[in-house]
Amino acid sequence: MPDTIFAKIIRSEIPADIVYEDEHVVAFTDVNPQAPTHVLFIPREPIPTLNDATPEQAELLGRLLLAAAAYARKQGLAEKGYRVVVNCNEDGGQTVYHLHLHLLGGRPMLWPPG
Ligand code: AMP
Repeated sequence: MPDTIFAKIIRSEIPADIVYEDEHVVAFTDVNPQAPTHVLFIPREPIPTLNDATPEQAELLGRLLLAAAAYARKQGLAEKGYRVVVNCNEDGGQTVYHLHLHLLGGRPMLWPPG
C-alpha cells in the first residue's frame, strides 16, 4: 500500500494542527480550508478509499462519524448544522489515498455540491 501524507501526519513525520486523536482516529485541520471549520478525520489504520473498507471495519467507520459529530458539537456547530463528506477516487475528487472524512461547517453549504 503506498505511503501517503496522512500516514506521515499519523507518524508525526510532518506537522499538522491535530484537534482530536484517540486510539483509532486522528483529526486535523485541512491545510486548504473550504469553510470556517474544515477538519479531516482519518483512521490510524490506512484504508485507501471507501471502496476498500470491509465489514470488519464497520466499527472503525462508525468511530470516524461519531468523532466528527462530537467535534462539531464541541465547536457549537451541531444546531445550525454542518456537512460531512467522503470523496472516493477520481470522480469523487479524492486526492489523498488514505480514507478521510471532511467535516465542513461555519457557513451554509450549497446543494448540489460541485
Ligand atoms: P480529498 O480531495 O478528499 O482527498 O481531500 C484531501 C484533503 O487533504 C484536501 O482538502 C487537502 O487540502 C488536504 N490536505 C492535503 N495535505 C494536507 C496536509 N499536509 N495537512 C492538512 N490537510 C491536507
